[in-house]
Amino acid sequence: MSSVPRPTGDAAALRTLNFINGEFVAARSGKTFENRAPTDGRLIGLVSEAGEAEVDAAVRAARAALAGPWGGLDIAQRSEMLYAVADEINRRFDDFLQAEVADTGKPLSLASHIDIPRGAANFKIFADVVKNVPTEAFQMATPDGKGALNYALRVPKGVVGVICPWNLPLLLMTWKVGPALACGNAVVVKPSEETPSTATLLGEVMNKVGVPKGVYNVVHGFGPGSAGEFLTRHAGVDAITFTGETRTGTAIMKAAAEGTRAVSFELGGKNAGIVFADCDFDAAVEGIGRAAFANCGQVCLGTERVYVELAIFERFVQALKARAEGMKPGRPEDKATGIGPLISQEHRNKVLSYYKKAVADGATVVTGGGVPDMPGELKNGSWIQPTIWTGLPESSAVIREEIFGPCCHIRPFDAEDEAVALANDTPYGLATTIWTTNLARAHRVAAKIDVGICWVNSWFLRDLRTPFGGSKESGIGREGGVHSLEFYTELRNVCIKL
Ligand code: NAD
Repeated sequence: MSSVPRPTGDAAALRTLNFINGEFVAARSGKTFENRAPTDGRLIGLVSEAGEAEVDAAVRAARAALAGPWGGLDIAQRSEMLYAVADEINRRFDDFLQAEVADTGKPLSLASHIDIPRGAANFKIFADVVKNVPTEAFQMATPDGKGALNYALRVPKGVVGVICPWNLPLLLMTWKVGPALACGNAVVVKPSEETPSTATLLGEVMNKVGVPKGVYNVVHGFGPGSAGEFLTRHAGVDAITFTGETRTGTAIMKAAAEGTRAVSFELGGKNAGIVFADCDFDAAVEGIGRAAFANCGQVCLGTERVYVELAIFERFVQALKARAEGMKPGRPEDKATGIGPLISQEHRNKVLSYYKKAVADGATVVTGGGVPDMPGELKNGSWIQPTIWTGLPESSAVIREEIFGPCCHIRPFDAEDEAVALANDTPYGLATTIWTTNLARAHRVAAKIDVGICWVNSWFLRDLRTPFGGSKESGIGREGGVHSLEFYTELRNVCIKL
């Protein structure tokens, strides 16, 4: 039996199961929830909702794995296994691609270029990182003249709870599972209820390449009163890594306070783009266009506030409008498709409520603002128009709050300091993208924006060795490269009296 429903066939008969201790299991309660395709609302299949019993079984399996063969592997052996995981994902590339595209509706061109390759690469990069990170050693003098030697050992944290969002399901999940396993932990993953498939498929990969049972577990369900809460409250979980909304992060932090468990948070953003008149104009339009509309605007690093120097403001607005209007909505497999649907009807209602608010707050709608007219069964999908506004006051909720849709507000500025102040006027601090050909300005402004990631003349360009995370309400901690080791390991100092 396959663990993941395929997008065709008798959907009602298909179940996405939990993956616990190397086996695909249905919840004892028999509870399921629907997984529907955002493109046309069709039922992809039913997902088994884990209860407290399944979450407990998964945590226990993970704990047992640490005490079993997994805990006995050395770094080289673990790394070899993670390379095999990456290779097997790539061998089953089309299965992962189909599952991800069915769950999210994103264009195949995007998922085949970013989601799946990066999902695989996350295992290799962290396998390489752990092999090459030294620890510190200090010699110290002692009164008897013989001295002592201190050195540090990196040991796994233990059982790590991994709570994931739906916007880049495989990529963001493996971004955590890769380093967690490379460091020798065992994990229990709770994928988003919207996108359960690729995490489940990864269970098949783990079994195929011989990752010991219990090292990688998946429990399905929702947040409060469901698998998410059961996992974060479980006393057997040593650390929690979470990507999602800031509000959810607050709830998880409260749960983690019990037992003082460590958290790593990648949260929401309300990122600014700053476009100076001396930019490479076409590159800036292309870059801001991607930052605002890629993945239907459902990227935490996306740009919903754009500040453009007055001299090029009108021209920029018109150029971005042309770009937005050139993005054709359509089926993922259609090569002409430039934009997919939002993840769900519920999320579309949220985004549309901001489209309404923008008008109520006095915005000029440059383009979009509603729902596109889609043919046939696509009418049942959660499609939305890419949207650009101008003329809103900075106090508007549209400017203050994360919308997570394909939209941006563009406002002119006169001076560099003004642009910096506007960009920083937010409780969030995730990312920014600056467009200028003035090198001195680029360095100067980058140093002043209070964010975790600052791009200059680019957006979403990621070297996976670099620190990734947010400041202010956008996160706690950094993941990526050696920085992931700070969270996924404990440093133990050994002091030897000579
Ligand atoms: P979400 O917070 O609604 O849900 C994320 C996950 O948390 C889901 O698996 C959900 O079931 C679970 N969850 C919800 N409530 C919970 C609770 N009380 N206890 C335990 N688990 C709970 O986020 P989402 O809508 O899936 O994703 C979109 C959000 O994620 C946006 O805010 C976006 O900015 C953010 N995001 C951030 C980054 C980043 O790297 N900073 C990356 C991607 C997405």
